[in-house]
Order: sequence, then C-alpha cells, then structure tokens
Amino acid sequence: MSNKLDLTANAKINLTLDVLAKREDGYHEVEMIMQSVNLADRLTFTKIDKGIEIEVNHPQVPTDQNNLIYQAAQLLFSEFDLSGGVRVEVDKRIPVAAGLAGGSTNAAATLVAINQLWELNLSLAELISRGAKLGADVPFCIAGGTQLATGIGTELEKLVSDSELYLVIVNPPLEVSTAMVYQNFKLNQVTNHPQTAKVIAGLREGKTELIVDNVANVLETVTLNSHPEVAKLKSRIEELTDKALMAGSGPTVLGFVVDQAQAEQVKVKLEEELATDYKIVVAKTVKQAIQFN
Ligand code: ATP
Repeated sequence: MSNKLDLTANAKINLTLDVLAKREDGYHEVEMIMQSVNLADRLTFTKIDKGIEIEVNHPQVPTDQNNLIYQAAQLLFSEFDLSGGVRVEVDKRIPVAAGLAGGSTNAAATLVAINQLWELNLSLAELISRGAKLGADVPFCIAGGTQLATGIGTELEKLVSDSELYLVIVNPPLEVSTAMVYQNFKLNQVTNHPQTAKVIAGLREGKTELIVDNVANVLETVTLNSHPEVAKLKSRIEELTDKALMAGSGPTVLGFVVDQAQAEQVKVKLEEELATDYKIVVAKTVKQAIQFN
C-alpha cells in the first residue's frame, strides 16, 4: 500500500450560468453547464503520523482549518475514524477567488486522495455526496468533464461532449466575493439568459460555433456593473476573440477562440496591453477534473 499520491486538480469554467429562481432559504436555483479545463493545481498527499498539514505556494491561501483541503480531510477522518494524518503540498496555479473553483477542486482532490490512500472504497456517488457538504462546486470538481448542474448546483447530469474548446483565461488583480454577487443579483434585470439547450446540442454534435454563440452568464449583470474594469476587460476580449464570457461570479474573463495558435496570439496581445499583475493563461477543455499522476 502506497503512502503518497500525486494528483492534478483542474479548474472549472461555466459555459452557461443561469439563475432560475431565488429560494426561500436564500439559495438560488441554478442551471449551469460546467466544464473542466486544463488550468490546474498539483497536489501531493503524504500519509504522516498525525494531524492535517498544508503547504501552499500562494500567500492568499490559508493553511489552517479555513482551507477547504483541511475541511475535506477532516470530514473523512472523523466519519471513518481514520488513523494517522495527512500532509498536503499544493502547487497553486489556479488564480484565487477568481471564479474558477480553485478551492473546490482542491477539496475534491483531497476526498479522492484520502479515499485512495486509506482504501475506503467509496464510489464516485459516495464521494460526490460528501463533496456537497463542503461547497456547491465540489461535486462538479469530483465528477468533472462536462456536466449540467441544477438545484443549487450540486445535482449533476453528465453531458455528451465531442468538442474541444480553446480559450484565453484573463484574471484581473482583484477579488470578487461570490456571496456578494448572489446577494445583489436581481432576476428581473437579466436580459441575456443563456441558450442552454442549444449549447447542449452544440456539445453533442461537436459544433463549436453553436456552443460559443449561445454561452452566457447571468451574474455578469452584477459584477460588470459593480466593477467597470471587468466590463472594460470583457469588451476588449470580445474584440480579440469569438466570444467573451465572465467566469462564475468573476472577475476572471474567458475569451473563446478557434485553436491554440489564436489563443497564443491573443495572450501575447493582452500581455502587451494589460498591467503585469493580470494573469493570462491559454487553456482548453478536458474530460476529467482530477487526474492521477
Ligand atoms: P468558486 O468559483 O468555487 O466560488 P473561487 O475560484 O471564486 O471559487 P477560490 O479560489 O476557491 O475562489 O477562493 C476563495 C477563497 O477561499 C480564497 O480567498 C481563500 O481564502 C479560500 N480558500 C480556502 N481553501 C482554498 C484552497 N485550497 N485554494 C484556494 N483558496 C482557498
């Protein structure tokens, strides 16, 4: 039995993000097409004698119980009364508080790693139900690929996808709180709902244009109004690519392009125009959230 495991945890983007209703309990009923992309953190898990130790090469990420890795590990340690402890080293590449599910994907990787290292034999569905206790995006970050998420985002249906999409991911140097965005969201202000059914058809049939023409994110109504610099960035990316779309609750903006070469060209152009503290990455869609290395 091995006592070390090395995983790659991919970021997520939303091809569509629609809010259908606000619930009595304050949560929102959503309908979203979620997609794994190859912008990833690398996590190394090692069994140790006791405790949960976290080391991350990023100053904004906590290493105590506020880290979702800690919460994921603790959840399985206490439920199964596991002996020993775990040390987790994170090479953080996914921008933080960016709308790319960086924390959620780390939590997902932790559930997968502990299941493997302690031979718990939990099924995918059993891991997903535990993931939902940690955050609404964690189930997707376990299931990965292309999924339709409904309810509060935790009910998943795998979508058939024959499409490989290339994109430029641009993360401005500011943080946007997801909770703030949902609090200020007003359904009656949305004019541009995504055409979810058309995007699903485009994915199934491998028709990139049908996908890209119909992606949309209703949370743009909040973030683009409260952060003019994000609105300006989106307009510029719209000029350089086939389609610009805000990621999750922002402030990251995605630019969809036809291929890797165009993505690299757009990246070079934006690097010339934007301040050096903007993070610009070329990425493509992938079929898994977590990969074993
Ligand atoms: P989502 O799209 O799921 O809302 P996000 O990409 O907007 O997430 P995260 O990168 O998950 O946001 O970070 C949000 C906050 O969570 C950070 O400011 C950080 O303090 C905290 N956090 C806790 N654990 C982690 C982790 N493992 N990686 C990154 N941030 C974490």
